[in-house]
Amino acid sequence: MYDIIIIGAGTAGLSAAIYGLRAGKKVLVLEQLSYGGQIINTPEIENYPGIKNISGFDFATGLYEQATALGAEVKYEQVTGIADGAEKQVTTTEATYSCKAIIIATGAKNRPLGLDREAELVGGGVSYCATCDGAFYKKRPVAVNGGGNTALEDALFLSNYCSKVYLIHRRDEFRGEVKQVEQLKAKENVEFVLNATVTALLGEDQVEGIEVTDKITGEKRTLQVDGLFIAIGQMPENAVFAPLIQLDSAGYVVAGEDCKTNVEGIYAAGDCRTKTVRQLTTAAADGAVAALAACAYIG
Ligand code: NAP
Repeated sequence: MYDIIIIGAGTAGLSAAIYGLRAGKKVLVLEQLSYGGQIINTPEIENYPGIKNISGFDFATGLYEQATALGAEVKYEQVTGIADGAEKQVTTTEATYSCKAIIIATGAKNRPLGLDREAELVGGGVSYCATCDGAFYKKRPVAVNGGGNTALEDALFLSNYCSKVYLIHRRDEFRGEVKQVEQLKAKENVEFVLNATVTALLGEDQVEGIEVTDKITGEKRTLQVDGLFIAIGQMPENAVFAPLIQLDSAGYVVAGEDCKTNVEGIYAAGDCRTKTVRQLTTAAADGAVAALAACAYIG
């Protein structure tokens, strides 16, 4: 019997674990892949208060080590369902665990563009992770699609390795930080392709180019690139909770700043819940809020 079961070992989940453990609770963290969540693939973090500069991997590893040193039990199992009752239960592909409170901190996964053969060409030129795959494209031309912080960071990172980086965005204004846009503008090997969408992947088993369509003129153009890095945001993965927990139309857990869901004693923290600002800082803050609320609920 655990006090708190946390589903997801990203920034929100591990922050919740730290707060729960420091309050003397017995905490289990369930994670389907590896600890760290999305931030583990970010090359550089420069906007976490108190830390001037750190890689996503080092940040996530520090968080993981902090939680496990405090006594967090972490199991790598996929959650298949949760149940409410006198005790709450979390079922995974391996076992069923009982607890007094649950914190859902499942984050979000990469959104695909929806192109023909996109899934097939992952590993053959299509990637969702510049930090993981960027080194394969040394001195080769690539494209990044997206206009948020991830796309900007990916383009900056790749511009250090690649002969050419096309940054394709569907509008003429970026959603990401101005500072990074300015840094990209100063790079000789970076070209902005604005008001444009990627409409086709070219090449058989390997990406040899992409077709880009201008949204205003409708004109199509081929960019000779060996890789396409897709960074168009995330989608939540909360379907497994839908029988019990209220989700919004996009699949995010409906919960306010207090992290409370429609079920007492079940909380949602970080990118998986309805919110406007999805940042490392807000994920960490949610972890603290959800864990302290769970502690108060348990009593
Ligand atoms: P995001 O901020 O949601 O941006 C997604 C981008 O992709 C937007 O520019 C959007 O265009 C575009 N897009 C969405 N769907 C598209 C489609 N079907 N076709 C073409 N373009 C599409 O996602 P993100 O950059 O992954 O960032 C997610 C969150 O993490 C954000 O809050 C971000 O600030 C945060 N983040 C923080 C850090 C950091 O703190 N260091 C690093 C990375 C990310 P529109 O602009 O036109 O909507």
